[in-house]
Amino acid sequence: MDSRLYLDYNATTPCAREVVEAMLPYFQEHFGNPSSGHSHGWLARTAVEDAACEIGNLLGVSPEDLVFTSGSTESINTILKGVARKRTSAGGHILTTKAEHKAVLDTCAALEEDGLEVTYLDVGPDGLVSLEAFRQALRPETILAAVMYANNETGVIQPLEQIAALTRSNGTLLFSDTTQALGKVPLEGVLGLVDFACFSGHKVYGPKGIGLTYIRNNADKAALPALIHGGGQQKRQRGGTINTPLIVGLARAIRLSVECMEEDQKRINELRDRLEAGLLAIELAVSNNRAGNRLPNTAHLSFPYVDGAGLLTALNSKMAVSNGSACNSAAVEPSHVLLAMGVERNLAYASLRLSLGRFTTAQDVEKAIALITESVRRLRESNILWERRS
Ligand code: PLP
Repeated sequence: MDSRLYLDYNATTPCAREVVEAMLPYFQEHFGNPSSGHSHGWLARTAVEDAACEIGNLLGVSPEDLVFTSGSTESINTILKGVARKRTSAGGHILTTKAEHKAVLDTCAALEEDGLEVTYLDVGPDGLVSLEAFRQALRPETILAAVMYANNETGVIQPLEQIAALTRSNGTLLFSDTTQALGKVPLEGVLGLVDFACFSGHKVYGPKGIGLTYIRNNADKAALPALIHGGGQQKRQRGGTINTPLIVGLARAIRLSVECMEEDQKRINELRDRLEAGLLAIELAVSNNRAGNRLPNTAHLSFPYVDGAGLLTALNSKMAVSNGSACNSAAVEPSHVLLAMGVERNLAYASLRLSLGRFTTAQDVEKAIALITESVRRLRESNILWERRS
């Protein structure tokens, strides 16, 4: 691996060696099309069916409720647009939060253009949606609520049990973006609460370009129409030749992540706490995610009197970190998640997300503390406002 310090595991993870090894035979020896009616196809189809069964077992859901996609973005589009298409009358209302991933926010914006109404709830300074505000925003015509389980930037975990009770009593479907939670916190209980969820392989040491839509009771209700048509694959719910190697890799990655979760996350959590403590020792540093339940691997801090772009530039050649989600790293806007939490713009600019993973070591953490402390000190030295602070 690149010897530069990598603390951006929420953006993506390296593919595990075991995952690559599991995939390799399906690129060459077992290259058949799973939809073909001959032995090459049967072999590939068996591999795909085995992978779906294995993932179903690991997640505690029926394999019938899983549809393979290219990743969470596609799954999110499938869910939101599918529910909108299935609505019985004109109009329709979706309830979501301003802290969702852009895949949800941008899809909601597209649906607004199609005439749906969307309510975007603020979150509190702790990153949590207010249950009272959520209850009040539900309407008789609210067809779907989209509330992510674990936030990709802050790692904040939403109270899904209470949210699910509210949506259930309103007859509203519930989708939760579980992309970041997989392999970091147990999910069985969560999947029992929601109607839809989504996953991306590359967040769990699997390949990029493969993911899953979870659709509760899919077999009974054929609950969601396809987003991608053609060929009738995956029970007509996602057209296109089924990607055997990536599906085999996804199953192996999820197996490794779930089996190693307890041990891995305990170790990672200790490292994250050490990293956070080291960085909070910097004068005026504040944590943006310590108020409640959160992912064990994610630290998120702001450093007043520091130019955020300057901080990233100073760190870039030595370590990989993020100050917003990777998906909108081209934007100069500060993180929409921090803004939704009410973090002041300047402070939102001057923030870092540090996400640890399977290959993070205690030495990495000490190195990161030293590098960031030194960069913050230097940037403040050249900031006249730092000199003048009272
Ligand atoms: N949802 C969350 C919470 C994410 O972190 C991501 C990736 O950053 C996505 C959705 C989109 O995943 P992908 O880019 O793999 O489609």
